[in-house]
Amino acid sequence: MTIDSFTGGMFETNCFFLSDSGILIDAPQESADWLTREGFKVRILLLTHGHVDHVWDAARIRREHACPVGCHPETVPMVSEPEFFRRFGFALDIETFTPDLMITETPARELSGIDFQVLEVPGHCPGSLCFLSKSDAVLFGGDVLFAGGVGRWDLPGGDQNLLFSGIRTKLFPLDNDIKVLPGHGPGTTIGREKRENPFVGAES
Ligand SMILES: [Zn+2]
Ligand SMILES: [Zn+2]
Repeated sequence: MTIDSFTGGMFETNCFFLSDSGILIDAPQESADWLTREGFKVRILLLTHGHVDHVWDAARIRREHACPVGCHPETVPMVSEPEFFRRFGFALDIETFTPDLMITETPARELSGIDFQVLEVPGHCPGSLCFLSKSDAVLFGGDVLFAGGVGRWDLPGGDQNLLFSGIRTKLFPLDNDIKVLPGHGPGTTIGREKRENPFVGAES
């Protein structure tokens, strides 16, 4: 699996493009321009969750690449209802769209030729998904588990207990050598965060 990454927008949000399969994970601000610059053709856009910094360019990418967008059902109102962010006090307007396919937790689902295990780990955001490719030992985790951190739980729909227990019961049982590529900051591994993470690690 060849993974290209781009970091865009004021929150420095990561997205990942898997060039062999045309899968794009998340769509931060300026990612549409990056795809054009690189000549990448998206076959499917997968959203880890509906926070605005991860879906900023999603409508434009869906249109320009004529690609379906997949997300959790709880992400749908966040990206399709213009009033959604304003209700929660965000003074931001993003272009809304209707997602094309619903993705929920499952041990195996083929998406654009890649077999993913999909894990639902809410607590940072309702409907947060982590996409695990077992054959490549890589987890696209969104804003759940970071190198030395976890996603914030104080935004609307956040829940600290749900987040911490989800990480401990769903992510930490995975193989230690699985690489975690998060929505912000550098990559890490399951084993390293199990040992060292100050929020959910062995010594926390
Ligand atoms: Zn987020
Ligand atoms: Zn984020």
